[in-house]
Amino acid sequence: MSQLPYYVGAHVSAAGGVENAPLNAKRLGANAFALFTKNQRRWEAKPLTSRNIKAFKENCARLGFESAQILPHDSYLINLGHPEAEPLEKSRHAFIDEMQRCEQLGLSLLNFHPGSHLRKIPEAECLAKIAESINLALAATSGVCAVIENTAGQGSNLGFSFEQLAAIIDQVNDKSRVGVCIDTCHMFAAGYDIRTQESCREVFAQFEQIVGFQYLRAMHLNDSKGGLGSKLDRHHSLGEGEIGYEVFRFIMQDDRFRGIPLVLETIDESIWADEIQLLRAYSAEVA
Ligand SMILES: [Zn+2]
Ligand SMILES: [Zn+2]
Repeated sequence: MSQLPYYVGAHVSAAGGVENAPLNAKRLGANAFALFTKNQRRWEAKPLTSRNIKAFKENCARLGFESAQILPHDSYLINLGHPEAEPLEKSRHAFIDEMQRCEQLGLSLLNFHPGSHLRKIPEAECLAKIAESINLALAATSGVCAVIENTAGQGSNLGFSFEQLAAIIDQVNDKSRVGVCIDTCHMFAAGYDIRTQESCREVFAQFEQIVGFQYLRAMHLNDSKGGLGSKLDRHHSLGEGEIGYEVFRFIMQDDRFRGIPLVLETIDESIWADEIQLLRAYSAEVA
């Protein structure tokens, strides 16, 4: 049995309809992509039409994208750990809608930022609310895995440490439908040094011990404008920021990162095709 490939791509535009996202990904030479299934800065969204859904599925099938290669991202407005009842309810409702859009499109992953306590409730209480929000969404849908993204720890955002990710997963009832997406920029900004092969080995060994690679469902590959531990969520092009190239070589040469979407959210989309080629060249070094 041959190993799964590395699935490499970028967060592409879905302007004009979700069905355009796979076309945009193919143009980059990608075999993975991320997308928003609705406007990420608005609460309201028109439902997907049967035409959108059919065209999306046809384009994915024709261009060779299966659900394991596609990582939808939810709206930035949603806060599943909101300290107040009414906004929490609104977020939970919107999150279920996002999950249902994934179901309609035949997608199996939904990437989201865990939530913020807004300095109104203790960390542990916020983490429990996030887990409860996930439980509600999983009960209301089927076939879609809730993929928690680690954060930079900006403001009162939680999910910046492996321990916090593990604490959320621990309180989710259906462990088969919860996972994590690790963003390299966020992890570095949160204080995980990933600048050398040696430090990458150590940090991902910690990840294995605290969270576990069985929960790793995706990665966001970004360099960082902010320094180590800066808590700044400021992405940069690969190798142009404070992290440098080594972590990306590490990922592309480690079999634990095969078979999951590895998605660029770097700032210059005109070089995404080149960045994808660079990542593929790293895995070819050891092939
Ligand atoms: Zn994100
Ligand atoms: Zn990200």
